[in-house]
Amino acid sequence: MARQFFVGGNFKLNPSTKEQSFALAEGLNNAQLDPATEEVVIAPPSLYLLPLKEKLGNGVQLAAQNAYFKVSGAFTGEISPTQLVDAGIPYVILGHSERRTLFHETSEIVAQKTRVALDTSLKVILCIGETLEQREAGKTAEVNEAQLKAAVAVLKEEDWSKIVVAYEPVWAIGTGKVATSAQAQETHAEIRSYLSKAVSPAVAAATRIIYGGSVTSANSKELSTQPDVDGFLVGGASLKPEFVNIINAKK
Ligand code: PEP
Repeated sequence: MARQFFVGGNFKLNPSTKEQSFALAEGLNNAQLDPATEEVVIAPPSLYLLPLKEKLGNGVQLAAQNAYFKVSGAFTGEISPTQLVDAGIPYVILGHSERRTLFHETSEIVAQKTRVALDTSLKVILCIGETLEQREAGKTAEVNEAQLKAAVAVLKEEDWSKIVVAYEPVWAIGTGKVATSAQAQETHAEIRSYLSKAVSPAVAAATRIIYGGSVTSANSKELSTQPDVDGFLVGGASLKPEFVNIINAKK
């Protein structure tokens, strides 16, 4: 079965007002979105999830940018997966490199969060990716596998239908330095081959592996032609009108 093309927009800690987030939703509501992109998901700051849910149409779904591995209790400032489900939010992004680097989330923490998110019926956009230093040392596959291995250890085979893997090389995130189509294809194929060995060939064939890191309207078309690139996770460009062109990259 063909994998459904998936495009996510990670707003990070932007925009600064609710009205600006409404304007972004309005832009998507009024856009002609290519039905070939079967899933479009935006991840605004958590405060804007509920108001945006009321505004968003056109089949666009919502994701939280983070969720904790406990569902309730004395965890000041955290976001509960069950509260996201109660709010009708279907997806959560976990393991983004900014969370790993700035908030010291290890692969084991990310795996624990993934387990609990799935248990509460959230779907997960699971981010992995190597630094420039690791790529230059020839460790790209090793690093991606180690990050995935922690998740593989706590997931059952059937859980993978609820996971989209986002390959986001750290050196490409927010830098304007996009991976070439060949680099993205090679790494996505390596990730798929790892999933085949570590989980099963069926899971490897069915799991969407999307690319993130300085995706723009200009580079998305060529990246989208690669056989193992099943969509994008977009940061900066998801706040701009060009996000629609990225969603429509397959057109
Ligand atoms: C991201 O934040 O996931 C990302 C890929 O950012 P950017 O597109 O700005 O590189």
